[in-house]
Amino acid sequence: MTDTVHLSLEEVHALARDALRRLGCSEPQAGAIADTVTAAERDECQSHGLFRIPFYARVIATGRPDPRAEPEISELAPAVARVDGRMGFAPLALQRGAAPLAERARSQGIAALSVNNVFHIAALWPEVERLAEQGLVAFAFTGAINYVAPAGGTRPLFGTNPMAFAWPRENGPPVVFDQASSVSARGEIQIRRRDGVSLPAGWAVGPDGAPTTDPDIALKGAQLPFGGHKGSAIAMMVELLAGALIGDLFSYEAGERDADGTGAPQGGELMIAIDPARCTAGGEATASLGHAEQLFSRILEQEGTRLPSQRRVDARRRTLTAGVEVPRSLVERIGALG
Ligand code: NDP
Repeated sequence: MTDTVHLSLEEVHALARDALRRLGCSEPQAGAIADTVTAAERDECQSHGLFRIPFYARVIATGRPDPRAEPEISELAPAVARVDGRMGFAPLALQRGAAPLAERARSQGIAALSVNNVFHIAALWPEVERLAEQGLVAFAFTGAINYVAPAGGTRPLFGTNPMAFAWPRENGPPVVFDQASSVSARGEIQIRRRDGVSLPAGWAVGPDGAPTTDPDIALKGAQLPFGGHKGSAIAMMVELLAGALIGDLFSYEAGERDADGTGAPQGGELMIAIDPARCTAGGEATASLGHAEQLFSRILEQEGTRLPSQRRVDARRRTLTAGVEVPRSLVERIGALG
């Protein structure tokens, strides 16, 4: 028997959705999570694919999220919409908030979406990519659980706080980046602990504040922001945008609420969308998008470069027809959930 199971993307979706339904999620909640999990498998971002389903199971078991929540949309200002996730999971709130955000970006030129009261353990690229596919420039920011020390400090305060950006293209998928503000994702440290592999220097400090390459000690201590004070400033900005600005939690507050250590933070997300057609005197996006293509060409002229998101786009071309390989133990574990 092989260690992996071959699944089509439809089978990935059904496996995720059915498990989430058995765990008590409503059809819309289960469907939206299954959409993001399937997109992650499709783009070979396995750490946000089926791998996450047991995380959803753990956090549902605490009784803290409402797996049947129906998000509620409201308007805070002509260019600011709000989606209250009502303690459900982020993917459904984000799906429901996409159209109100896009409509406001088109009418106002720039608009924001405040996403509150959600449990967020997903990647951010699906929501910014969705907007850029409609011709909008998009940003997303969310906090996490406090695992990261501020530059110069040694105690966990910030989350791994990802931010994502998407730029639309006329003849192809958007250019997207989506990155944590810590040197490494937490999962990278957990995988190294499982495999008995040391960490590269500079990823973490131990509880005593001393630099460590031991994954076990690192997980008890604090991760470090990327680029020293620069990543630390971005992590702080993400806390402010996705916490204080939109009336939601900071990562340390999310950490305090995650007493069971599920690793699934309750918190908020801020999205911003800009219509490029409304940012130039001519009122058309064509010139801006064409100009951007020149920059992309200049980047790619240099050997060794690629555009962010190209890896995902290449993976997608393969997996849409070929399907994906998933560890058998994970498929069995998901099949037994609920
Ligand atoms: P990576 O460091 O793997 O990648 C960051 C970005 O850089 C990606 O957009 C990637 O594009 C791009 N990239 C990577 N290598 C190159 C290269 N050589 N040239 C150009 N671009 C490149 O991501 P992270 O580990 O920082 O984050 C992983 C995911 O984890 C993100 O999706 C993030 O949203 C998520 N996350 C979620 C959290 C949550 O609580 N919800 C918390 C923290 C992280 P490509 O995809 O094409 O490789």
